[in-house]
Amino acid sequence: MVNRRSFARQVIGYLPVYAVAASVAARADAQQVPTGGTGQQYPPGRGPFDGSPVGDPLPGQKWLVHDHTRPQPRKVTPGQPISTMSAPSDAIVLFDGKDLSKWNAVGGGRGGAAPSTEPQWKITDGHAEMRGGIATKESFGDIQLHVEWTTPPVDDPTRVGQQRGNSGIVFMGRYEVQILSGFNNPTYADGGVGAIYGVYPPMVNPCLPEGQWNTYDFVFEAPRFEGEKLVKPAFLTLFFNGVIVHNRAQFLGSTAHEPIAVYTPHAAELPLQLQGHVGPAWYRNIWVRRLPGYDA
Ligand code: MG
Repeated sequence: MVNRRSFARQVIGYLPVYAVAASVAARADAQQVPTGGTGQQYPPGRGPFDGSPVGDPLPGQKWLVHDHTRPQPRKVTPGQPISTMSAPSDAIVLFDGKDLSKWNAVGGGRGGAAPSTEPQWKITDGHAEMRGGIATKESFGDIQLHVEWTTPPVDDPTRVGQQRGNSGIVFMGRYEVQILSGFNNPTYADGGVGAIYGVYPPMVNPCLPEGQWNTYDFVFEAPRFEGEKLVKPAFLTLFFNGVIVHNRAQFLGSTAHEPIAVYTPHAAELPLQLQGHVGPAWYRNIWVRRLPGYDA
């Protein structure tokens, strides 16, 4: 579980976000924010849709960023057993349940401070508990990535929506796919589990209950730049517990809470990050394969 000090530190790291959220909370109250059907009353800042300003129109979609009226993705029960396959022979094993020697600590959120220190994550029984963000020492461009994760149960019933299990897979330190308690934890659809944060919810939601292990199997295509110009955006395919939830979906740019994501030029390869947000989130069995293309 996340201790109070690390939780506080992570929240402090997100003060700008919550400042925005606070300014929107009053507006949200007036809009009768959905409660996910529970009808439960939550303290200020703890509702399922808190921290969710309804933002700019999403290009090519009929929704706004964090649109409260966007439907929750349809739930799907994944097939069993969930594949927890070991790494192929040409994969780089990033976490084998024993040590995080392939990682550095970074600031809590996306694109945190430059990697510099050892992760403070706690390793227990073959999994690592999120405590702040971490980034790979190695940099990557186009990759296949396998990640296993779970959000353990949280005792506090007022921790809902974005406050429950929040972490994330952040490609190149910029492009986030959400990790969140997702079996029974509604939030704005483009910020739920498996979402390309702020752009697309997963096509369906195959998340398992808290404490059960989920798998993410990604194909990520890095964006290409020529000088300052974007010549190819980033694309993402994701199998979530064996169910496809993004089919070569396009990132609009570096993930942002608000305003809308935009691209800024960056290196062809950058470290992969696991987001240090409010958690709790546990990880195990993480490996990556570079994708140099055919005949390579
Ligand atoms: Mg997140």
